[in-house]
Amino acid sequence: MADGFIEELRSTLEEGSVLAGADIDARYHHDLAGSPVPKPRAVVRPKTTEDVSALLRLCHRAKVPVTTQGGMTGLVRGALPNASEIVLSMERMNAIEEVDVATGVAVAQAGAPLQKIQERVEQDGFMFPLDLGSRGSCTIGGNISTNAGGNRVIRYGMTRDMILGLEVVTADGTVLKGLRKYIKNNTGIDLKHLFIGSEGILGVVTRAALRIFPAPAEQQVALCALPSFSEVASFLKLARAKLGGELTAFEVMWNEYYRLTVERVKGVTGPLPTHHPFYVLLEASGGDAERIRADLEALLEMAMGEGQILDATISTSNASAAAIWRIRDSSVELGRSFPYAARIGFDVSLAIDRMEDYADQIASRIKKIDPEAFAIVFGHAGDGNLHIGVHHEHTPERREEFEKLVYGITGEFGGSISAEHGIGISKRPYLKMSRTAEEIETMRTLKRALDPHNILNPGRIIEV
Ligand code: ZN
Repeated sequence: MADGFIEELRSTLEEGSVLAGADIDARYHHDLAGSPVPKPRAVVRPKTTEDVSALLRLCHRAKVPVTTQGGMTGLVRGALPNASEIVLSMERMNAIEEVDVATGVAVAQAGAPLQKIQERVEQDGFMFPLDLGSRGSCTIGGNISTNAGGNRVIRYGMTRDMILGLEVVTADGTVLKGLRKYIKNNTGIDLKHLFIGSEGILGVVTRAALRIFPAPAEQQVALCALPSFSEVASFLKLARAKLGGELTAFEVMWNEYYRLTVERVKGVTGPLPTHHPFYVLLEASGGDAERIRADLEALLEMAMGEGQILDATISTSNASAAAIWRIRDSSVELGRSFPYAARIGFDVSLAIDRMEDYADQIASRIKKIDPEAFAIVFGHAGDGNLHIGVHHEHTPERREEFEKLVYGITGEFGGSISAEHGIGISKRPYLKMSRTAEEIETMRTLKRALDPHNILNPGRIIEV
């Protein structure tokens, strides 16, 4: 059956930009969470901001909903289209247009994969510090739309802290040319922050000016075993005091995470035995190689003397550092080693001094729903962010029961239901547990003002 709107898109946009029917590949309706959905109405792959603008102008006029896609590594179903939606894939807008080392800025199109940006600025002796396990597939546009966090937040902050300027197309096709390169810019409302972390419901990010930093000459990674969570907290305090700005990652793994990853994920080897209660991956970086080594060794010696750590190993090469990081980066592979329908991922923030009690509460209370259920806990302890995988018997209906329980416990502990993965569709019912009714209504006011026909990622985060 002919689709007049698709024909109009074809005649307006550059040839080859519009895919429909059998030409729509599975990757446009499938994401990292692993549950495919039916094909979208069409897929549009623009090469220019002008084409994004033309597409949205047409969709706005015809009130046709659009889902914007990056690398499809999201975990909250935010980029999965429904059958009536047009997918706006940013995959052909993937250029890194400029690396300006004098100013410390790189300019990239939204579809550029994160790892490509990291590697490109490395060629000039710089680093783009945003880093997460899906670096090879995720795109900078997706990172911006979800305000991605990842492994180095403790030192460099979230994505929001690394963005100097954005070019954005709003729902009616208006192009906001905010691609500015300066840190200081107090000229009224800083519009870029409306689009960072708002999951594409207010506009489509097309290009970004990113902060880059001189690459550290030395990066040392240590893996430590600890006897209790209170020692994890004490060790973090000591590491912050002794390493200061040299501390670039502090990642915690409960025993189950470390042990099961070493046992189940192919290609992972554990340099320490698997029986210790807690493990910490610590990264120290800086410009002076000898000093970094000396500071890290002194820290570990002191922590060992105080009984905070029981055992530790320091990387001796880039390869051994990568092998340690591989353990922490294998959370997706570990999750996939269990049946999909019987696993639920949570991503929460809470105060570090409440983390152990929180994890213990979850571990014991999930057993009341299903005696076989167990939790795998790990995360960015330095940022107050835990990831929890709840594994249970293969009964998808149980999902809601577990979600209500875990988010309820998160509320009891005064935590946030989403530290870094966002709300999307999956967490929308629970948004009210972390945000007030007045805050959510203000989000709706912004959405109605910028997207009056509700065409951009409708139903994500909020319903209007
Ligand atoms: Zn994370």
